[in-house]
Amino acid sequence: MKVTRRELLMVAGAGAGAIALGSLGINSFITESYAKKLKIKGAREVVSICPFCSVSCHFIAHVKGGKVVSTEGDSGYPVSEGALCAKGSTMLSMINSDHRVLTPLYRAPFSDKWEEKSWSWMIKKLARRIKDTRDQNFKTTNADGHVVNRVDEMFHMGSSQMSNEEASIVVQAMRAMGIVHIDHQARI
Ligand code: SF4
Repeated sequence: MKVTRRELLMVAGAGAGAIALGSLGINSFITESYAKKLKIKGAREVVSICPFCSVSCHFIAHVKGGKVVSTEGDSGYPVSEGALCAKGSTMLSMINSDHRVLTPLYRAPFSDKWEEKSWSWMIKKLARRIKDTRDQNFKTTNADGHVVNRVDEMFHMGSSQMSNEEASIVVQAMRAMGIVHIDHQARI
């Protein structure tokens, strides 16, 4: 049977705890009663990825009743071995924050109000704006008459949460539109 590092740590931790408590004469009933009150009791474990930087540490979300009740580092993930930095450690408060934006918000030109929009509405709007800006600014030649086929007025910034394959597809799409100013936030 293959035992993961996480499972090994859990078994080792439970064994060491039992030996230590027994040698101290502590009644295991007390421990069990305490365990029943833990907020992760009965929760489902879901492995996910920290969104804050390109290290992409894995973390475990404990989900109960459709709500994330706790998060912790994933010791089974070989890159970070369960460690999370200060940003990743605040995952739970970010997930459940009242300030978290869950639907696209749109502010029309000259308006002072944000309006909630559907994802399909927002994607169509963005596609229209990108296409129009590209078409209005596309140049086939530069001031010296050399063929350039490019758009200088647009810029693309990639995300650290993109895989190599996604980044490759996005760069090809940008190049196909003539966008030459491209950068990528793949660093801490
Ligand atoms: S290093 Fe910190 S911010 Fe980056 S993925 Fe890991 S926990 Fe998240």
